[in-house]
Amino acid sequence: MLNFFNVLEASKNVYLDFISPIHCQLCNSQCGDNQIIFRLCNECFYSLDVSPSSEQLLNSIYSKMKGNDSALSSITSYAELNPDSKLELLIYALKYDYCSRIGFDFGKILGKKILNDSTYSNIDLIIPVPLHAARIRERTYNQSLYIAKGIQDIIHKRIESTCLQRIMYSGSQTLLNVSERSYNMSDTLFKVINKERIHNTSILLVDDVFTTGATLEACANTLLLEGALCVHGITIASAPLR
Ligand SMILES: [Zn+2]
Repeated sequence: MLNFFNVLEASKNVYLDFISPIHCQLCNSQCGDNQIIFRLCNECFYSLDVSPSSEQLLNSIYSKMKGNDSALSSITSYAELNPDSKLELLIYALKYDYCSRIGFDFGKILGKKILNDSTYSNIDLIIPVPLHAARIRERTYNQSLYIAKGIQDIIHKRIESTCLQRIMYSGSQTLLNVSERSYNMSDTLFKVINKERIHNTSILLVDDVFTTGATLEACANTLLLEGALCVHGITIASAPLR
């Protein structure tokens, strides 16, 4: 029944987007026809804060890993999620407001960012960070899959969206502190089915936001244990590093 109402809500939002002018989620001004990201005016898009570098993001994981190196080979993120930038409102719309097009548009931007970067020249597969099946039923879609589709549109690599699965519902994870989270989210959180599909592959792992890096790290660990060659992380936004 819950799923039915979610679908109804999604249809309503798609209808409203169709009949009324699109307004920017950040500044509320009317978006023009040539907006780069759906529900974000180009002025706000060009004023987004730049995300920390791959090295800075990897170092922030390393500092929480008690001496173990990160399982990720690199991390690319587009924008920094500063509280006053209101970017969080756009990410919220992507996750909860059935606005998959925001994910697709940002995916294209991410694809262009890595297209000519030699770090990513050997990518074989794009894998979105999976949601638990129960959460898919709540939300009806996985926002990371739409980001992956946008990236695919630019780099033309295969999306593998079924072989990595989330086996633990992590609703209570936010109650734990960062080091406990990293520990808690080891390989008990994800599993790989049809291992042959990832064997000896270089993987681009897609998520919406880099917060502590614990989710990307847990996915990368599982993928490497099950036969992947290397895993690169990519996200739309990253939380400011502390
Ligand atoms: Zn705006």
